[in-house]
Amino acid sequence: MKNRVKVILDYDGTLTREEAMVDDLARLSLDTLSCEILRVPRPQLEDEYEETRRLILSRPHEFGWKVRGLLASYSDEGAFILNTTTLQVMLRRNPLYARRVADSYEDAEYDPVNDCTNYLFHRHTAELKPRFRQGAKEILNSLLRHERFIPLILTNSKGDKVERNLQTLGLKGVRILGDTRQYEMDPSWERRFFHPEQGMIQALKIDQDHKVDLRRPLYYRALMREAEGAEEMIVVADTLSLPGALPLVMGMRFYLLKTSYTPFWCEEFIKKHERGEVLESLSALSVKAPCGTGSPRDGNGKGRI
Ligand SMILES: [Mg+2]
Repeated sequence: MKNRVKVILDYDGTLTREEAMVDDLARLSLDTLSCEILRVPRPQLEDEYEETRRLILSRPHEFGWKVRGLLASYSDEGAFILNTTTLQVMLRRNPLYARRVADSYEDAEYDPVNDCTNYLFHRHTAELKPRFRQGAKEILNSLLRHERFIPLILTNSKGDKVERNLQTLGLKGVRILGDTRQYEMDPSWERRFFHPEQGMIQALKIDQDHKVDLRRPLYYRALMREAEGAEEMIVVADTLSLPGALPLVMGMRFYLLKTSYTPFWCEEFIKKHERGEVLESLSALSVKAPCGTGSPRDGNGKGRI
């Protein structure tokens, strides 16, 4: 384990092209809502979905995925997140929908709307054919073969879905941190993080309109467990709030994969951060030769591992 660098790769949107899968996810989610949960005509639901989506996109920083009253992610950070936020806002705004969801999720773990959208996400992403990004297989293979790196896959999805999908690439032996729940927010968690300009913080200020709440004890503990004994930790993901802010304040490196949906505010923040990098593509994450030249600490390998 000594001198090993753990590279934690987010799954949805990082290894996969979620922008090419989100329409199917939305379609299947609306089917289930229409037939099984809300019992309302499908065309009506689709119109409301589109209307809600337009409203959110007109003021994206005012909307997001909220868990236990805390913002887990802004609405515009990813294609799947925008879909989740749209469904949540649509379900909360309509009293009939809110009531029917509450009836279906009486013993909700979070709240009925969150449990409902989690259910739709897990059920229907598991039904979708995975569409991997170009270079996903190659980068995982080279990390697996390289003596200096240990790749891990991070996901809010269930580990079995991810394992099944990775097998379609012929990849075996990559450890999966499944169901990591970076969205598990806890307002009672008191831990603060030192930031050189912002002081002891529980929320990382990004810009005038955005700040990322850091009260994510489950994700924090998962990162701490993995960091034990590793020389360095690098998290690679397509969004900032869910997987990226916490590793940064914990002193780890974070590489943001730029996609068609990456908002300007995320890209700008990561570009300026001393431990952040923006990757223009997954293949930009190339593995260099062994014997130390691959260490991000070497400094001249910016954006590379
Ligand atoms: Mg992602």
